[in-house]
Amino acid sequence: MAVAEKRLPEPASVMEKLVSLAKRRGFFFQSSEIYGGLQGFWDFGPLGVTLRNNIKRAWWRSMVELRDDVVGVESSLIMNPKTWVASGHVQNFTDPLVECKKCHQRFRADHVKGTRHEEDGGEFTEPRQFNLMFRTFVGPTEDSSSQAYLRPETAQGMFVNFTNVLSSTRMRPPFGIAQIGKAFRNEITPGNSIFRLREFELMELEYFVPPAEEMKWLEYWKDERLRWHLGLGIRREKLRLRPHGKHELAHYAVGAFDVEYEFPFGWSELEGVAARGEYDLRAHQEASGRDLTYFDDLKRERYLPHVVEPALGVDRSMLTVMIDAYAEEEVRGEQRVVLRFDPVVAPIQVAVLPLSRKEPLVAEAKRIEHELRPYFRTEYDDTQSIGKRYRRQDEIGTPFAVTVDFDSIEDRAVTIRSRDEMTQVRLPIADLRRELEDRLHPSHKG
Ligand code: ATP
Repeated sequence: MAVAEKRLPEPASVMEKLVSLAKRRGFFFQSSEIYGGLQGFWDFGPLGVTLRNNIKRAWWRSMVELRDDVVGVESSLIMNPKTWVASGHVQNFTDPLVECKKCHQRFRADHVKGTRHEEDGGEFTEPRQFNLMFRTFVGPTEDSSSQAYLRPETAQGMFVNFTNVLSSTRMRPPFGIAQIGKAFRNEITPGNSIFRLREFELMELEYFVPPAEEMKWLEYWKDERLRWHLGLGIRREKLRLRPHGKHELAHYAVGAFDVEYEFPFGWSELEGVAARGEYDLRAHQEASGRDLTYFDDLKRERYLPHVVEPALGVDRSMLTVMIDAYAEEEVRGEQRVVLRFDPVVAPIQVAVLPLSRKEPLVAEAKRIEHELRPYFRTEYDDTQSIGKRYRRQDEIGTPFAVTVDFDSIEDRAVTIRSRDEMTQVRLPIADLRRELEDRLHPSHKG
């Protein structure tokens, strides 16, 4: 067996190594890097955008398409500003901010220890509340009447469309409205690469239920969401569910759980699942004067549905998937870095590599790659030595490489190399597609 002892990298350096791998291989880059970047903003490269799309597709598939009780919407990023007054964001979407009196750097009060700045000993000011919403103007005049906000979450787009969805579909509680889209928060201390961003993407579900069923559905969704992360291949021992203590709950919330992951910088929130009571629909009903109640014609009951909300950041899920997959190994005296992506998320699933750049190998390898392309995420590569190409595929997390050699032309067979076991199996080209199906989509088997 080629696999030798596994060396676990130091936790602190994993983030650095991952950020450097991400840049070297094209997962993510600092935004507008040639101008020095912009703190809290990141761009996604060719592999990064594919990884994100795979995560979003897995979420949409499981939360919307495979369910008969959830429908999707896509609401605008800028909404009528009255929305954010009613929801409480204008008043309360704040973090406590302190400033170092010496260097004037600002920090989130709940992220600093003690009353002085560790770096220069400067005293912190008293905390003041800082609103995290980005402001802009709609139309050609720039005054308070035209001021609007970039949405800090997608959830309000579901609440304000509650009756539109009810009246245009046959949904009745318990049912959900889902959305994936960008959100903006002017975070005081963005950081840990793509963990805390100022522009990020959310995947949110608002699940509307009869009031008496709220706790039951909170239980259901916390388990369901944990299960979903496992389905992306995240290790069980790195995930946990943490119930919120009383003091942590928003005043309207009935209960909440965080799905936490053990990041290199400690256990932190990956996803939030919260029971929000009737707070949101009540607030919009009162502010808009529209009736947002639901009439259950079977029970002849009218009520404001309660809401259970699982909310997950695409970026945070992406970072988790990458960290969880990252490994360094010693193989025959050499070090290899490997991203053990589950095939569901792997940006490339199958690499097709001619052993050399000579004909007819190149033509045959290209033909095979084109044949596989409609069924898997594939890539053709004939640069560098075969060893270097395997190493690159390991680093970008490709589960399988198909190698075309000189014998292939005669015996119509190729070799499949597996990323994790590093085993090589020779099989007829005619069986290649079925073999890859079995290995990559085992659930599709009869
Ligand atoms: P915090 O207290 O850490 O600022 P929060 O509890 O207010 O965050 P939620 O509003 O519950 O965060 O956000 C739901 C999910 O959205 C989080 O679990 C996370 O996955 C993602 N998320 C929130 N803020 C950010 C951000 N600034 N950058 C990236 N993802 C984020």
